[in-house]
Amino acid sequence: MIGAGYVGLVTGACLADLGHTVLCVDRDSEKIEALSAGRVPIYEEGLEAVVGKNLESGDLRFTTDIQEAVSKSMFVFITVDTPPDEIGRADMTHVEEVARSIACSINDYKVIINKSTVPIGSTKMVDTIIEESMEEHLEYDVVSNPEFLREGTAVADFLNPSRIVIGSDSQKAVRLLTELYRGLDAPLLVTDPVSAEMIKYASNAFLATKVTYINAIANLCEAIGADVREVAIGMGYDERIGFEFLKPGPGFGGSCFPKDCAALLAISRDHGYDFDLLDGVLKVNQEQHERTAARVDRMAGGLKGKKVGVLGLSFKANTDDVRDSPAIKVARMLLERGAEVIAFDPRAMENGRRELPGAGFAENAYEVARGADILVLLTEWDEFKWLDYERVRGLMASPRVMDARNCLDPVVLRKLGFTYEGIGR
Ligand code: NAD
Repeated sequence: MIGAGYVGLVTGACLADLGHTVLCVDRDSEKIEALSAGRVPIYEEGLEAVVGKNLESGDLRFTTDIQEAVSKSMFVFITVDTPPDEIGRADMTHVEEVARSIACSINDYKVIINKSTVPIGSTKMVDTIIEESMEEHLEYDVVSNPEFLREGTAVADFLNPSRIVIGSDSQKAVRLLTELYRGLDAPLLVTDPVSAEMIKYASNAFLATKVTYINAIANLCEAIGADVREVAIGMGYDERIGFEFLKPGPGFGGSCFPKDCAALLAISRDHGYDFDLLDGVLKVNQEQHERTAARVDRMAGGLKGKKVGVLGLSFKANTDDVRDSPAIKVARMLLERGAEVIAFDPRAMENGRRELPGAGFAENAYEVARGADILVLLTEWDEFKWLDYERVRGLMASPRVMDARNCLDPVVLRKLGFTYEGIGR
């Protein structure tokens, strides 16, 4: 497993749990040192236990030595990051580096599996790099095998996937990879590499579009006096629509949706197709972040010199990941509007501090409320739903709550004396 981040670490630990012997490689030696000692540097439910158990049994090992990992393995997964470049294209530098390192380390037949989210044609590109960098020609296959796990439920998602997609022109590689995944009970789709690569982008862009659609409907609900939560339930009963991803909020974020939408737009441009729908999704999403900040401003009667308590920094609950987090973006906008921002997150404090240099940080949600002119709930952590809001009201300078995740009960909060606003209700 090359790249021991959210995807590589979860995939490596879970494959070890399925009975395979796994070597996880990362170039970050501090990370490898921590992992070798059983310390998992990210927060992901259940991951530490799976890592610990398989470290102890010897089925899982960590190293910085890519050559050792490649030469000792039959399957080589590429799970490095593919961040956006300045115009939204997926930056393939890390994938290219890894492909060259693999080429120098191949000693017999390997299945090389691209699990990173990569532009269309990347399976071919990795193949070409390896072919050109190998000193003597040895047999190998490159396969596209996109990953669909969600942070926050990554271990459970890996072990119970919605589907396994394998994009390959080699029957041998497909047979071997299918065998590797034998312990998983999931529909298997074997297709060509380009279609497999497209499935990943098309899925993420569709989900981003669905969230954006309900955000737009929520904005309209506010204008006409409807409750978007009722509307979403009424829509969700239609099986063609379903209930998932119909929760309005401060706009989508995270390490995948924004970058994958931008990458798909770039791919469309490169191929002469104007994907106006997706362009619109990204614009509306940016507006949703701005609307959220503007609403806090309006509710507080201006933000200059006001103290704003921010609840939540991670891009969604149950993760410490703040990459492209809407909570961070909105908090930055509040700072730009002149507010004093004090934030708390149950798991993402360390990452949040790095991203929000102008903000203050509190030890818990009640300390965030102390002296605040308004509270903004930006990440749907369970613990924010069950705070003692009577106590919160007593601590605040003015009892105002902007619930950007519709987590709280407006009736209860208003009864307690809060000015409450949610999204689309
Ligand atoms: P990450 O940043 O958490 O992890 C990437 C790891 O790769 C890092 O630890 C980094 O040090 C390591 N790395 C980079 N270059 C390296 C090299 N040359 N040699 C060895 N190690 C190297 O990234 P992630 O969130 O795990 O995402 C990885 C890929 O999977 C991305 O393409 C992403 O789009 C895709 N993906 C992510 C998710 C998710 O929820 N995070 C879900 C599905 C797919």
